[in-house]
Amino acid sequence: MKIRAAVLSAFDEPLQVQELELAEPGPREALIRLAWSGVCHSDQNAMSGKAPTPMPAVLGHEGAGVVEAVGPGSRLQVGQHVALSWAPACGSCEECNRGLRHMCGAAWPAMGAGGLMDSTSRLSRDGETVFHYSFLSTFADACVVPDDSCVVIADDAPLDVASIVGCAVTTGIGAVWNTGEVRPGDRVSVLGCGGVGLSAVMGARAAGAECVIAVDVSEQKLADAIDCGATHAVQWQGDPESTADAVRAIVGSGVDCAVEATGRPEVATAAFLSTRARGAAVLIGIPHADAVVSLPALSIPRMERRVLGSIYGSSYPPQVFPQILELHRQGRLPLEKLISHRLPLADVNEAFALMGQGSARRVLLDLRG
Ligand SMILES: [Zn+2]
Ligand SMILES: [Zn+2]
Repeated sequence: MKIRAAVLSAFDEPLQVQELELAEPGPREALIRLAWSGVCHSDQNAMSGKAPTPMPAVLGHEGAGVVEAVGPGSRLQVGQHVALSWAPACGSCEECNRGLRHMCGAAWPAMGAGGLMDSTSRLSRDGETVFHYSFLSTFADACVVPDDSCVVIADDAPLDVASIVGCAVTTGIGAVWNTGEVRPGDRVSVLGCGGVGLSAVMGARAAGAECVIAVDVSEQKLADAIDCGATHAVQWQGDPESTADAVRAIVGSGVDCAVEATGRPEVATAAFLSTRARGAAVLIGIPHADAVVSLPALSIPRMERRVLGSIYGSSYPPQVFPQILELHRQGRLPLEKLISHRLPLADVNEAFALMGQGSARRVLLDLRG
């Protein structure tokens, strides 16, 4: 079938909205009619070459829509509403068998190859292969994805909110719930208040954190964090030590869980320094490949401080997506506050420009044609 999609053909060039050919879903794959896609910094990193992906490629990895067709052996049914996960799993590799399906040893190489789980593509342009991005390629009106990327959600769950649950929201909330294991009464800090950080703020409040301290360089982002439920705001003080001091001035000896959502090594140091005894710095921002984080070693044994990595919120999407959407329905996670702009697919480059200005929260593409 023919689809309209935003194609990346070279680094640092605008995306081009073009007509492409989308093949039928193969075994254990599904064709999804997309409704909404979020625009994420990871897409930007693919465009700039910071995190290269095979090109030409259809970007986008936060989407939600409706199942339109299924391939042989699919467990899905036509008409089901789904939120998409960029972490499908083979179910049989070493990591899958350890319960770490979001780090599936078969999926990550296939993702790097720009294909679906068998590393081949369903996308083409005039007979030439076009690559998938993160298994999903949601900057399009439809996509073919692995069955395992589809999380069935309630028919009345809002598809705009569901689209961002597929990446930013789960990354931020999962870091607090699963990786940091925040409990009622805990103290939490969140360093970096973009879409992922704001999600962490909401996740911490929903988990019953007693205080949630937002840290950012931008006054606008700090105001956003307060609006999303942060109890305190601390502006970045220019260095990790002073910033951690400013956090501890609010909560005494420090926080139980400090979520780092910028990928900057000095912010990771600040997160670590803001923890109390047995506290944990949870690092979710993606640093440059050669970045090194410096930590005062003595306080690791002396204070039992911990550093925890977190990818995709250490989450199992089929469990956590519906859980998040249910709390949203109950009014306990005001996720619609994350959405600041809605643009048609044709304006995808405008969406990245808005994201670059820093004043936007999440920018969504309306794919409903
Ligand atoms: Zn993302
Ligand atoms: Zn696996």
